[in-house]
Order: sequence, then structure tokens, then C-alpha cells
Amino acid sequence: MICSYCKTETQNSNVCDFCRADLHAKRPQLNPNLDDTASDYTQPQLKELHTYDLMRLLSHIRKERSDMYKTMQTVRKAPDEAKIGNYDEVNEVGQQMYQELTTKKNIIEQILVDRMGYYPQ
Ligand SMILES: [Zn+2]
Repeated sequence: MICSYCKTETQNSNVCDFCRADLHAKRPQLNPNLDDTASDYTQPQLKELHTYDLMRLLSHIRKERSDMYKTMQTVRKAPDEAKIGNYDEVNEVGQQMYQELTTKKNIIEQILVDRMGYYPQ
């Protein structure tokens, strides 16, 4: 068989004769069906994703996060007379959601650091 890393013919079917790659190890594959629900993945699940998919997910989460930030700014700037009823609750839920998106963003950025030594700004 041909090793998927060094592209040389190998007799051994477990470990590549030339580069010693584990020939059974699953390599990340592009997932064209990956949708926004992937932002709820755990770190071990995210680690399985292809780098390209991680980048797409990161830009999605960053956008959500900055939209949430703008919304929270608007809520905070609202005149006092509008801050009635469940204002505190809305404010708190918004803070939590923003915090959660920050956490998700951090996980993906750090996986990218492990892979490439940096993450895109
Ligand atoms: Zn090889």
C-alpha cells in the first residue's frame, strides 16, 4: 500500500516502512456537512476536525461573538426608563452567552496553535 504521508510504497500495513507513520490512524477529513452545531463540540471532538473546517467554525463563532457584543452594548446604552421588567435577567443571559462564545473561540484558537503555532487574527 501507499503511505498517505510520505507517498511511498510500504510492505508493512500497520506502520510505514519509510516514515514510520501509523497507517491506521484517522486523518482529519474535510466535512462539507459541518454546520453551526459544531460550535457546541467538545475539545476532543474539535480536535478531530480538519484545519479548514476549524477556520470556518472560528470565523462563524467570532462573528456571533461580535454581534452579541454589539447587542449587549445597545442593551446597556438603553435609557433607564427602558431598563424595566426583566432587564437584569436579559443583561445577565447576554453576558453568559458572550462568555460562552469567548470560551468556544479560545478552544479553537488553541487547537490551531497546537497545529500551526499560531491562529489567524
Ligand atoms: Zn510513510
